[in-house]
Amino acid sequence: MMKLTHDLHTHTTFSHGKNTIDEMVRRARELKIPELTISDHGRNHPFFGINPKDLKVMREEIDFYNNQYDDIKVYLGIEANIIGSDGTIDVYDEELEYCDSIYAGYHYGYLPDNFSNFRTFFIPNVAGQFIPGIKNLMKNHNTDAYLRMMEKYPMLDMITHPGDKMPIDIDKVAQMAAEKDVILEINQHHNRLNTEDLKIAAKYPVKFAVASDAHDVKDVGNVGITEKMINDANIDHDRIINVKFD
Ligand SMILES: [Zn+2]
Ligand SMILES: [Zn+2]
Repeated sequence: MMKLTHDLHTHTTFSHGKNTIDEMVRRARELKIPELTISDHGRNHPFFGINPKDLKVMREEIDFYNNQYDDIKVYLGIEANIIGSDGTIDVYDEELEYCDSIYAGYHYGYLPDNFSNFRTFFIPNVAGQFIPGIKNLMKNHNTDAYLRMMEKYPMLDMITHPGDKMPIDIDKVAQMAAEKDVILEINQHHNRLNTEDLKIAAKYPVKFAVASDAHDVKDVGNVGITEKMINDANIDHDRIINVKFD
């Protein structure tokens, strides 16, 4: 049986989650999960993004719980958006000052940082959902964005749902993730990584994490089908950094 030691990807009312930090912490303590990361969305997302002013408030609240409780360790992270084909993510000084961990993932609907990115990256990736020819063309382009991101941000800890919503070459991404010590996430909410991706990525000494991506208390600790995926792909259990098996 796989047991979660750190639910490292969760959302709260500070972005578009349904529950407060307090409620998420309480649920993780009930479930006896020893570590929890609150990782709301990067500020460039117009619907889900955090208000940058809230980072200090979130940090203070999390520090308070860490002082209050000795059965859980709570961390503040950010799930940044990949906002440019040059690998830019929406992480700024405040995120670096207040957050314990930096994640990045591709999400529809973020605000591109300039018009050229809007035309060459944002639009084709949205259109690629409907037009297979565009999807294939975008694969190389998107892979480059992921690779440049890993070069540009040495503080990047994890890529969330790699290749979901935008096609990438997982072989190249996993190879660099291993080199740069970036964790690849196995997310129970999203279609990628899938079992086939995992088999390809596992050729390189990259680390993995399973994630609930909980948007409400009901999903805290729920990593769904990820255990089956890990077993189907034959991944060594000690490569999953936030679980233990018994
Ligand atoms: Zn995400
Ligand atoms: Zn998320």
